[in-house]
Amino acid sequence: MNKAQVLVCRGVGECFDYLIPDTMALQEGDRVRVPFGTHTVEGIVMGMSSEDDAPYPLKPIETVLSFPVSFHQRQLIRYMISQYLTTPYKAYQTVIGSVKRRPPSPLPPMETQDTSPPLSEYQTAAIAAVLACKGGESVLLHGVTGSGKTAVYMALVAHTLERGEGVIVLVPEIALTPQLSRLFMGRFGSTVAVLHSGLTPKQRAEALSRIEAGLCRVVIGPRSAVFSDMPGLGLLVVDECHDSSYKQEAHPRYDALSVAQFRAKVLGIPLLLGSATPTLEQWYSAAKRVSMPFRVANRPMPSMHLLDMTDSDMFPDHHVIGKPLLDAMKVACSREEKCMVLVNRRGYAPSVSCGRCKKVVNCEGCGLPLTYHVDRQLRCHRCMVSMPLSPHCPHCRHVRLETSGTAIQKVAIELAKRIPTARLLRLDRDTASTHGQMMRILDAFRQEGDILIGTQMIAKGHDIPAVTVVGLVGIDTALGIPDFRARERAFQLVLQVSGRAGRGEKAGEVYIQTTRPNDETLQWAVAHDIPRFMDSESGFRQALYYPPHCRLINIMASGLDVSLVRDHLDTIHTVLRGIPGDHQLYPPTPSPVDMIKRHHRWHVLIKTTDSGLADMIEGLRGMPVHKKVRVIVDIDPQSIV
Ligand SMILES: [Zn+2]
Ligand SMILES: [Zn+2]
Repeated sequence: MNKAQVLVCRGVGECFDYLIPDTMALQEGDRVRVPFGTHTVEGIVMGMSSEDDAPYPLKPIETVLSFPVSFHQRQLIRYMISQYLTTPYKAYQTVIGSVKRRPPSPLPPMETQDTSPPLSEYQTAAIAAVLACKGGESVLLHGVTGSGKTAVYMALVAHTLERGEGVIVLVPEIALTPQLSRLFMGRFGSTVAVLHSGLTPKQRAEALSRIEAGLCRVVIGPRSAVFSDMPGLGLLVVDECHDSSYKQEAHPRYDALSVAQFRAKVLGIPLLLGSATPTLEQWYSAAKRVSMPFRVANRPMPSMHLLDMTDSDMFPDHHVIGKPLLDAMKVACSREEKCMVLVNRRGYAPSVSCGRCKKVVNCEGCGLPLTYHVDRQLRCHRCMVSMPLSPHCPHCRHVRLETSGTAIQKVAIELAKRIPTARLLRLDRDTASTHGQMMRILDAFRQEGDILIGTQMIAKGHDIPAVTVVGLVGIDTALGIPDFRARERAFQLVLQVSGRAGRGEKAGEVYIQTTRPNDETLQWAVAHDIPRFMDSESGFRQALYYPPHCRLINIMASGLDVSLVRDHLDTIHTVLRGIPGDHQLYPPTPSPVDMIKRHHRWHVLIKTTDSGLADMIEGLRGMPVHKKVRVIVDIDPQSIV
């Protein structure tokens, strides 16, 4: 008897055995229709065998459908199931995507030209290093901002295409790095498929079908593009590899970098990780590290200044922008140069308090301060609630409420007052909630803007040559986040935002406002001293046993009733204690943000080794469930707050 293991696309999507009718020509990976309960549902043939060991009569497969799932995609589905505690059907949806495939139509050829300037010796060396790399290895390209990493990627893509192989290039967010896809399209034409969130389902299905049919040989896209079923894949590139958006923050919580590493290994192809600010994990785990320590065309690195916010000469009368930064911006605007100011908080002021009793107006959903916005609304960005500002203090009914602290709208208002002739643009989630709005603001800034004020969105890889002055407001908030990666993130933010300055003919100036000008992390960041920071950070992580010295699993439980949450987590904790292996298991504690939308949040942190992780994942599959407590298991979490 011939039978097939079919992943059923319904419910959790377990694999079940079905009988293969004698007349049916079936192959692994075929999409089929099978009887399931009282229905017929779609399924994927994950395996076939001829063993006659079924304890009950099997139902036969009904029909074979078109567009089979390739060997590599089935491998990826299995990988997702084994690494991320996800159900087979969810793994299938993540890898394949939910759009229906169609026969692809080729695109008309585009006019292309190679306009890339000659390569520097560092760029040439980096290309040689990747070409010499053994299959399955990862190479970290550590190039300072403006050192020409894109030109290295393009040269390697050209090499790979000449060999007849395909390339996947991952980028953090297409809307924020439009120039990369434009450059690739300009040089390689219609063989480039750009997958981004602005595509309609139909456009997306067409692009995926073209990739699978081998009509598009280069894919550029965000984390989900790592699953692209590119035939003859020869190179994987992850640009801005430090970016936390490569980790999906919804189920299944996969890390596109780990998936890329897995693909590179099984295919025996190189994986190139590029960044000016790699993470500690990437710094130490890459098989090879290649440095590009200088900007192209001998352009200098920007000069970096720390502005001490406790100095009242620089910050008179509660000014939110320090005098040296303001002066530099005025000069830049008068010379038709552009400025960028990063403020990593939305709204006008991070808190509102009473003028009499001094109590802060907190969100009822999380107990933390509400943010004041210029539309006179109080908002909580964690609980996603909004309410009009009440004329009275909720504690003592006093009529005078005061805002405190600085957020992006306040900075925008102050700058408009101090440099009235400047054309100001603001980019945050309140001005740009869609891909299209974001692109319009960035284009407007490129064409006619003087000053762009934005949240973290503007720290990413923008290349706008006319930007000469960059300001960073609110780095102290980033340093103060209760997460073991806070220092690393702050360090990266300073270097990334400074990388936007002086990319053209003129040198750049960067001003970082802080109340902690003697902080070592900031000092190393302004000195661009990555090795010193990495050494210090590694020592700190080793002492406290954090990645890269261990693997982390964060189990987060939440629910309306705190005692149910705690009890359920206790039960899980007891199960975890029974799992053999060298694990450090912490008792259940409230999470640093212990409530969101009135749901209490408790967590258990597990530190383990690479091999211990597999045992843990297996053990967690049998974890008890409770219908009033939501449990999230995050493997290699990006945040434990
Ligand atoms: Zn009051
Ligand atoms: Zn809240």
